[in-house]
Amino acid sequence: MIDFFFLFFFGSGDPLFLEPYWQQHAASSAVVFSGWHRMSYRTTGDYFISVELEKHIRLLHEAVGNAVTDGRFIVFGSGSTQLLNALVYALSPENASTPASVVATAPYYALYKLQTDLFDRREYEWKGVTSKWVNASVASMGNFIEFVTSPNNPDGRLLQSVLGGSSVIYDHAYYWPHFTAIPAPADEDVMIFTASKVTGHASSRFGWAVIKDEKVYQKATEYMQLNTMGVSRDTQLRVLKLVKVMLAEMRGEGGIFEFGHKTTRERWSKLSKVISSSNRFSLQQLSPLYCTYFKKIIDPSPAYAWLKCEMEGDVDCSAVLREAGIISRAGAVFEASSRYARLSLIKTQDDVDLLLQRMEALVSKEDVASF
Ligand code: PMP
Repeated sequence: MIDFFFLFFFGSGDPLFLEPYWQQHAASSAVVFSGWHRMSYRTTGDYFISVELEKHIRLLHEAVGNAVTDGRFIVFGSGSTQLLNALVYALSPENASTPASVVATAPYYALYKLQTDLFDRREYEWKGVTSKWVNASVASMGNFIEFVTSPNNPDGRLLQSVLGGSSVIYDHAYYWPHFTAIPAPADEDVMIFTASKVTGHASSRFGWAVIKDEKVYQKATEYMQLNTMGVSRDTQLRVLKLVKVMLAEMRGEGGIFEFGHKTTRERWSKLSKVISSSNRFSLQQLSPLYCTYFKKIIDPSPAYAWLKCEMEGDVDCSAVLREAGIISRAGAVFEASSRYARLSLIKTQDDVDLLLQRMEALVSKEDVASF
């Protein structure tokens, strides 16, 4: 069993790259509420959700153009982490004789497997990587729930369902202009988003799912009610404020996506430059793409670098990096080869500066070794 805390704390995707943005908007984004305020279980909307926040989330998607929300249901979760399991639960058949099979394409975000295994029960079980099932007979393909992460964590690629089945959970945590071009609004049946990666407030633990089918929505809300009785009302208030600021400033000088994209693009470009002079390491290939938000072709700006150790002896890339003082998340965590390691480009500027410095030192040693 992988140590959960170790896995998620070290080399993590902590989105502190947006901290300076909120420092620039310190006053307008502040939320203050007194002791008596919002003490009830009750909220303005059904199922423990704030009607205002739901409305503003729809406005945000519309303004960014990254997802269709008209005629869809929205469920809130304590982080998208809670929603991942709520949706596996909601999509699992109730009276099937065999459990639903849950799969994802490698390299994939480790929590899909860890959570499915943790909640393992009659209705569903983890069945490994999607590629194992691509050529399976249609009869054996019933009851599949496929996780599709787009852009993918760790390699930033825009992915589609591989199995093409009816139950697909699209995890769009990174489908924001900070991290990718937005070619078109996402329009899938079940989509998950998280404040952690758009406002950067991982601490607030707020995510939401956009769901087409009413039955799936009902089951997901049932899960949320029984599990936590909805999301913290304090959190909902804070996120509402943040979304309001984002909407008010959008596309202007104080635009969060302008800030976010510039930051991640510069980080990726600097790291790419360092790695381009290396024979020992390589990075995933990402191309400039047309972005409907920026209305132009934009350079890649992924949240993570998916680094490969190319030398025969470097079989454990994460260990190679660790020796050079660089913390990464090992390829094996994503069910990929240990020749790969993930580097986070969304931490603080200090962290990324140190990463670049140490990576540069590592690559420059290659030059000396080759003389
Ligand atoms: N999905 C993906 C692909 C992620 O990378 C993350 C966080 N790193 C999450 C979901 C969970 O996000 P949170 O629970 O903070 O909303």
